[in-house]
Amino acid sequence: MQDSNDQASHSTNRWIEFRPSGIHGMGGFARAKIRKGTRLIEYVGRRMSKQESLAECEAGNTFVFTLNDREDLDGSVSWNWARFLNHSCAPNAEAEQDEEDRVFIVAARTIRPGEEITFNYGYDFSEYQDNPCACGAAACIGFITAEEFHAKVRRILAVEARARAKAAADRARVRAASRRKK
Ligand SMILES: [Zn+2]
Repeated sequence: MQDSNDQASHSTNRWIEFRPSGIHGMGGFARAKIRKGTRLIEYVGRRMSKQESLAECEAGNTFVFTLNDREDLDGSVSWNWARFLNHSCAPNAEAEQDEEDRVFIVAARTIRPGEEITFNYGYDFSEYQDNPCACGAAACIGFITAEEFHAKVRRILAVEARARAKAAADRARVRAASRRKK
């Protein structure tokens, strides 16, 4: 068990300071200039079977990482400070897995001091509507989902926007027609 002192000592490491974020809750911020490829923090957790992982996901645990064919990682544990890192649609870091299936958050480009460190949570397409995104990136697509699904989500949103615009125009025409009848 970790006591509060122990946790406090982990609220910063060499690269990251954890404090409240404008994106959501707590976030991690660069304490110095960070070069691309730097390992920033390990995404630690409890290894669990696929069966247990499925149950966790169904229960709404959003901190599950797929590791390999047998095991996943439950990152919702209190000692995993990396769980506070926010998602971004235009992230400056990424999750990488080594040969021993340990997960590290690694700088994907140069990060300036004070910049919030973000990565793409890689959520499935199927639940994108349940996870709105407020990352603030110019390229934010509005939902937390893996980059491979961004184009698909953008197409869906464009179709929905056209349908909404058409419905509004139809309603306006109906109102205009009913006014003419009076
Ligand atoms: Zn976003």
